[in-house]
Amino acid sequence: MALLPIVYYGDRILRKAGKRIDPTDLKESASIKKLAHDMIETMRENNGIGLAAQQVNRLERIIMIDVSSFDENAEPFALINPEIVKVGKEKVVIQEGCLSFPDLYLDIERPALVTVAALDIEGNPMTLEADGILARALQHEIDHMKGTLFIDYIHPLKRKFLLKKWQVSSNARKKSDG
Ligand SMILES: [Zn+2]
Repeated sequence: MALLPIVYYGDRILRKAGKRIDPTDLKESASIKKLAHDMIETMRENNGIGLAAQQVNRLERIIMIDVSSFDENAEPFALINPEIVKVGKEKVVIQEGCLSFPDLYLDIERPALVTVAALDIEGNPMTLEADGILARALQHEIDHMKGTLFIDYIHPLKRKFLLKKWQVSSNARKKSDG
């Protein structure tokens, strides 16, 4: 397994849509499984609750989710070609972060309940009904598959202001890191 470098905001790959993974490739080749293992290791190392392929400079439609810091029974898992097939009417505001935007946290309103269809890492079709932090992580990561970022949910003027502030503080951080 290997740690993968995280792609930060400003890199164009974060705006690109992912490519569907052929289920036969999952069964016949080990490369997607290796990518999944590396992504899980990278997500854990960075204390993320989710990670999408674009964030490690890849365009396969694959995401990782790990809500074990909220639910001790949860295990990290991969979803291949995930899609939201149903959302609940109720919406909730939850604070989100993103590994591609270190130290930026935004209150974002999204549906509280979602149903996701995907393949598991073995290529088997599955559906997942989720609420709470799991529903939130799924929506955030599935957005990455389309090149959508959490900042897109903020009013444009507020977004401009927040990003400017964020970029100034991340430059300051880089300087102090040497
Ligand atoms: Zn993200």
